[in-house]
Amino acid sequence: MNQLSNQREAKGETVFKFGFGQSPFPVPTEIQKALSEAAHRKEYMSVQGHPPLREAIANFHHELEGKNWSADGIIVGTGSKILIYCLLAALKQAEVLLPAPSWVSYAPQAKLAGHNVSWLRTNSETKWKLTPSQLEKVCIDKKKLNIPLILIFNYPSNPTGQTYNSRELQELASVLRKYEVIVVADEIYSLLTYAKDYATLEEFYPEGCIVTSGLSKWCGAGGWRLGFCHIPKSLGQEYFDAVLGVASETYSSAPSPVQLGACQAYQNTPLTKAFLNKQVNLLKKVEHYCRSSLTRAGVNVHTAQGGFYLFPDFEPHRQALKNTGIENNEDLCNTIMKETGVALLPGNAFGMPDASLTARLAFVDFDGGQIFREDQKEPEFEKAKQGIDKLCHWLLAL
Ligand code: PLP
Repeated sequence: MNQLSNQREAKGETVFKFGFGQSPFPVPTEIQKALSEAAHRKEYMSVQGHPPLREAIANFHHELEGKNWSADGIIVGTGSKILIYCLLAALKQAEVLLPAPSWVSYAPQAKLAGHNVSWLRTNSETKWKLTPSQLEKVCIDKKKLNIPLILIFNYPSNPTGQTYNSRELQELASVLRKYEVIVVADEIYSLLTYAKDYATLEEFYPEGCIVTSGLSKWCGAGGWRLGFCHIPKSLGQEYFDAVLGVASETYSSAPSPVQLGACQAYQNTPLTKAFLNKQVNLLKKVEHYCRSSLTRAGVNVHTAQGGFYLFPDFEPHRQALKNTGIENNEDLCNTIMKETGVALLPGNAFGMPDASLTARLAFVDFDGGQIFREDQKEPEFEKAKQGIDKLCHWLLAL
């Protein structure tokens, strides 16, 4: 998809970059300032992470999300991605349960760590959400293996934009508890949930829930590579030490200037609150425009509840697409790219079957810096609008 994008751009044609889920928002200036003031710091920090940063993370997530973490249970790393790998690699043999669709890196990481992956295929009728009965069925089957079961559970979801309400989380928690499943709750998008109050799985299953998050999404700082995980005491010191061991033998410690910059990011100031509110308000507007245009064009797509993504299903257009030779999600995305310049990622990258006509749309191709510009009362998102309009015209002309 990148190659096709580059070819188009080289010809001077516009590319609508809905393929890559990078935050469009800049890192707030006071946080940038803290990083630059720490640029002279050059020492390795402790593998677990700078203690004041771990304290700040615990307080921040307590104030914003009601988490009851102790700084002792937090490990800071170079992004949450490597930490998810460390969490997996610290177990000798495990069965990793992955809802499909889910984020592209979980399955390769599980395999790298030597584990087997079981996909739990969801469908559009349940808004691509995992149901307790489907979870229980797999648990009954896999429990016989007598190895740890791990569920990687991401909400709001990349790629679907869906999240879970407290009833759904409670029901899943009772199955997870019954079969003693260890959960890696990937909450990297949680602070970009559109609703003010939202539930978390950890509330209902604290003893089995490891939470991962970081600065990449809510703080627009993906390239800073700063993430963390919180491991509950109930999973034991031996496991905690094993995760630290993998961290020590891989990334050693997160960079010291970044950890000091992050100490500022994890201050719950009025500016941070305003930053989060502005992002959510704009994301909601862009989501609404993209989703309602796609719905009008006859695409099956659910309202996102947080983050940057929609997961359109072009199934209602199957016959028309077939008439033009498109029968799977890769052909679909390649043709859309060639004919409209809109970049989407095919559903099979997220564990969907090739034949499904699904794709992930990251609606972040717009100028996020506007939210900081005083004169800009109503931030606009022209580029994203143009891309969606092009895609819808293409579909309706099939
Ligand atoms: N989890 C999900 C669902 C993501 O979308 C991403 C980044 O795209 C990550 C984890 C990794 O985030 P980090 O930058 O903290 O490694």
